[in-house]
Amino acid sequence: MSSVESLFVARQGKSSRPILGLRRAELSRWLKAQRAFTKSWVSQVGFKAKPGELLLLPSRDGALERVLLGLSEEHDLFDWAGLHGKLPAGRYHIENDLEASPSDGAALGWALGSYRFDRYKPKGSTKKSSLTWPRAADPARVTRLFEATCLARDLINTPAGDMGPTALADAAQALAKQHGARARVVVGDQLLKQNYPAIHAVGRAASDAPRLIDLTWGDAAHPKLTLVGKGVCFDTGGLDIKPADSMKLMKKDMGGAALMLGLAHVVMSAGLPVRLRVLIPAVENSVAGNAYRPMDVLTTRKGLTVEVGHTDAEGRLVLADALAEADSEDPDLLLDAATLTGAARVALGAELPALFTPDDELAQELLSAGRRAQDPLWRLPLFEAYRDQIRTPVADLNNQGGPLGGAITAALFLQSFVSKGRRWAHIDTMAWNVRGRPGRPVGGEAFALRALASLLSERYGT
Ligand code: MN
Ligand code: MN
Repeated sequence: MSSVESLFVARQGKSSRPILGLRRAELSRWLKAQRAFTKSWVSQVGFKAKPGELLLLPSRDGALERVLLGLSEEHDLFDWAGLHGKLPAGRYHIENDLEASPSDGAALGWALGSYRFDRYKPKGSTKKSSLTWPRAADPARVTRLFEATCLARDLINTPAGDMGPTALADAAQALAKQHGARARVVVGDQLLKQNYPAIHAVGRAASDAPRLIDLTWGDAAHPKLTLVGKGVCFDTGGLDIKPADSMKLMKKDMGGAALMLGLAHVVMSAGLPVRLRVLIPAVENSVAGNAYRPMDVLTTRKGLTVEVGHTDAEGRLVLADALAEADSEDPDLLLDAATLTGAARVALGAELPALFTPDDELAQELLSAGRRAQDPLWRLPLFEAYRDQIRTPVADLNNQGGPLGGAITAALFLQSFVSKGRRWAHIDTMAWNVRGRPGRPVGGEAFALRALASLLSERYGT
């Protein structure tokens, strides 16, 4: 990833080249005012100003005079994401007079276009291009969103061998240190002593001990905002082991944790007037002689008993303890994110996280935040009748739903650990781009980050 400092410059230098964004319908009008040479060049190369389409316009003496960029009808930040990789090294500025929100979008798109996971293969090329901050942009806002996205993506992309529970806790502690937050980590048998039995049960078979990461920041007098993220650093499925194809991507099973750490970075960088708490159960769902078994019954932190119908439904178990702790503090807003179910992906595909909340007002706020931030979510119901599927004669709950509606039954399971009336939303996300597009390469993705950031700034911003 490139640092923001290398991607932007404050002032437009003399050698800076203009980038002109044009919608398809605007192209012919713009061309009318151009000289014959330009008209001819644009027509020769067949530039149509399709969204994201790029054209380098030469001057008559063969210098790069201007860059044309096709724009979508509605502003799309990712129109600007292909530029960084394709433009020759140098300085650029945007010629359009953009309003504040499209300016931030263009700058963020430009920055995200530079993202690459390079931990094991540092960038060979030194090609650098920089963009003058658009006049109406908010550099601090763009920077924190960019950094948060890169943080979440890097955490997800790092393979489990280097991103186990210890490493994830280290990352949270580094973030806490950066912002003067407090991070406490409850490790191994301490989980039993401090009553986090489900987190311990799921993670105890791994050689890297299970833990609960507990970060707090901000003034205790401010409204309490609590973020909970599923941190399953690798999910083998446990004794109900996954087949190879399903296990392959399971380094991303801490995508909810990565998202919430990214969001915490946004909250703390922006200095939002909240008392922030981030709770991350960090475990590896592994296989060993001491692994938890199908039909074991766990007594959770809240006291509810759970029969383990399936050891691969581990996410809801570790979240149960974390949510119970979060809920006990009576937060103003409780958000959790998890790569929880394949069923959510069957329903909505890879790029649309599922949103669950009993609170219609919060749902509306979140959905409109998603539209504002160009980071959509889709609400699915907490359909109470399906609770039958997570019942068992043996315990209060069964962690395995039926074959249908699995995202809903998982969400209903979580709801059992949250008080009635709590302002709570649960996000079931893929956390992974399955197709590569400019600014969104194949790999870890912080879906819903911009939506949540927008919600929080609307709700708590000054
Ligand atoms: Mn699983
Ligand atoms: Mn999982």
